[in-house]
Amino acid sequence: MPTDRHPSSGAEGAELPQAQALAALRGEIPTFAPGEVWLVGAGPGDPGLLTLDALAGLLQADVVVHDALVDARVLALARRGAQMQFAGKRGGKPSIAQQDICVQLIELAQRGLRVLRLKGGDPFVFGRGGEEILALAAAGVPFRVVPGVTAGLGGLASLGIPATMRGINQAVILATGHDPDEEGQLDWSALARTRQPIVLYMGLRNLGKIAAALMHGGLPATTPAAVIASATLADQRILVSTLERVASEATAANFAAPAMVVIGHIVNIRRQLLDAIAQAAAAPAPVPAPAAAGKAAIPCGNSACEG
Ligand code: SAH
Repeated sequence: MPTDRHPSSGAEGAELPQAQALAALRGEIPTFAPGEVWLVGAGPGDPGLLTLDALAGLLQADVVVHDALVDARVLALARRGAQMQFAGKRGGKPSIAQQDICVQLIELAQRGLRVLRLKGGDPFVFGRGGEEILALAAAGVPFRVVPGVTAGLGGLASLGIPATMRGINQAVILATGHDPDEEGQLDWSALARTRQPIVLYMGLRNLGKIAAALMHGGLPATTPAAVIASATLADQRILVSTLERVASEATAANFAAPAMVVIGHIVNIRRQLLDAIAQAAAAPAPVPAPAAAGKAAIPCGNSACEG
């Protein structure tokens, strides 16, 4: 695995201002013992969505084994001198085998290092975190799991799409669109029949196929659908469309991974929200503070966005 030293300057973890702030907020900072592995979710990208315990891990780890989706600003929070190891896909090259990552984590821990395994989103949502803790447990390596904000919920929320909305849905389906043929066990017609929103991780590449399967299963072609790319990051983009058109429109607009696809009427809430914000801004009465805050936070700032 590629390795480098963390470049940030500053004193040892406990003396850093982040560590002091963390201690004030968190009370006692959980201790990262030598020989332990922490499996940590880094959230969808924005460092503001890290948990306090993820930060505690970063400030104490000897080695950080991270995926491609973890933002550089999050990695920059690691303790000075921490070893950074990349274990993910880069530039279309084949990813490191999962088995090799598990072996690596075990070896590092058995050398007495504090090993932070850092993954995008939540480590247990399409993150292969389950395999990793099973391997650690089998090897007798102590570990801690630090949950993260998953892209399929937090990424939507940051753009004003609620995962559940009273009167619209009673469930939300988190699905992978990775390879619908290989993972043939996913019955798209059955999902369509639930009439509940579907949030697709890794769904861009096979979106045309998946949309066709959902329409074949009875989901109307006019069902709202959105693609959200790089949620919570500076290059965040959103495309709002319909089930029938979303795949071709996403291709035409050059949407690229990482991207979530949301299919269902919850997508309309974003439009209602933007309309309400626009109306409030146009009204002669002074805009109350919460509406002004919403206006700044929710709309996608990218000029390529469709609101
Ligand atoms: N464990 C992660 C998911 C890993 S699978 C989580 O809980 O979020 C990788 C997929 O997650 C990507 O292909 C994409 O579908 C989604 N994803 C992760 N970060 C994202 C982001 N910032 N914006 C949009 N989609 C994201």
